[in-house]
Amino acid sequence: MKPVQPPLAAGSNRGLRARRRQDLTLPLPQRDASLAVPLPLPPSSAPNSSSSSASSSCNPNGRNVINFSELERANRIGSGSGGTVYKVIHRPTGRLYALKVIYGTHDDSVRRQICREIEILRDVDNPNVVKCHDMFDHNGEIQVLLEFMDGGSLEGKHIPREPDLADHARQILSGLAYLHRRHIVHRDIKPSNLLINARNQVKIADFGVGRILEQTMDPCNSSVGTIAYMSPERINTDLNHGRYDGYAGDIWSLGVSILEFYVGRFPFAVERQGDWASLMVAICMSQPPEAPPTASREFRHFIACCLQREPSRRWSASQLLKHPFIVNNNHTQSQVHRNLHQLLPPPRPLSS
Ligand code: ATP
Ligand code: MG
Repeated sequence: MKPVQPPLAAGSNRGLRARRRQDLTLPLPQRDASLAVPLPLPPSSAPNSSSSSASSSCNPNGRNVINFSELERANRIGSGSGGTVYKVIHRPTGRLYALKVIYGTHDDSVRRQICREIEILRDVDNPNVVKCHDMFDHNGEIQVLLEFMDGGSLEGKHIPREPDLADHARQILSGLAYLHRRHIVHRDIKPSNLLINARNQVKIADFGVGRILEQTMDPCNSSVGTIAYMSPERINTDLNHGRYDGYAGDIWSLGVSILEFYVGRFPFAVERQGDWASLMVAICMSQPPEAPPTASREFRHFIACCLQREPSRRWSASQLLKHPFIVNNNHTQSQVHRNLHQLLPPPRPLSS
């Protein structure tokens, strides 16, 4: 869910607290909580938030949406670096949910912090963002109740038809534009966090769970997730004078994911599961990947707008929603916007 997290460094890097691995010299930026936490935090003395002996909901007003004891695990869906996801049935209603069980147990202060995060996440409501319904503290083990997506994730999917890809990209961008409007940065956009259901709805998952894991996982834990979809300036803060714009970082990750769907493989000249150093070299030291010449002009331009090395040159999510690749492949809007691409400026040259 997050990069290899080096231990905290003593110094600072242009106002950002840097984290360093002792065996490597490249700093990673510390999470900027002000970017990701858009709402005031509720009081830390919230009821139900500190029990460690039973299953309690993390709901400050006691307005339990779902009672934990009414959930029945059906089967395990999958596991990631931070936890295991189960399909569960809410017995009284027969409704299906996904339950993410986060590895390890956490002490009271961490759980209280997580409860505050969940309260914020519960407020997020968009058709292209997986709904986070509740969080349970089961004997210190954190379990997050999520909307169930019956089609699973887009990891490993090959989507060579541009109209299909544009439809997926449009939905992901709608969710991302919504989050960014609320000053929420996802920080972990990648195919396994893009889920689909039988109605062909694509939704962004794990934006909250990733944030939780980022704060709770042992920084030296070697099982943390990949840096494969992270932008060059996030991996190596020296590339952008120590500044990290999380919004632009999300756009890079989206571009890598969309290009991966199109070509059917990780688009850099390195294995996605490669080691940290190989990925870092491929992502930070070479030109960003491009869509192949066989792709349409619109699609190649779209990818170039996402995969600019210079973060300020990347288009925003709301700009990309108006890109000809999205608009011209959207049948309900294509008549209105079919000539829009003639009005848009040409792509800026890829920076070195
Ligand atoms: P990592 O933890 O390294 O980011 P990941 O995203 O694959 O990897 P999880 O978020 O734990 O790890 O998810 C494991 C798998 O569970 C996903 O690949 C996905 O297929 C499935 N999954 C996650 N959330 C849901 C959900 N809400 N509905 C249906 N399936 C889900
Ligand atoms: Mg995930």
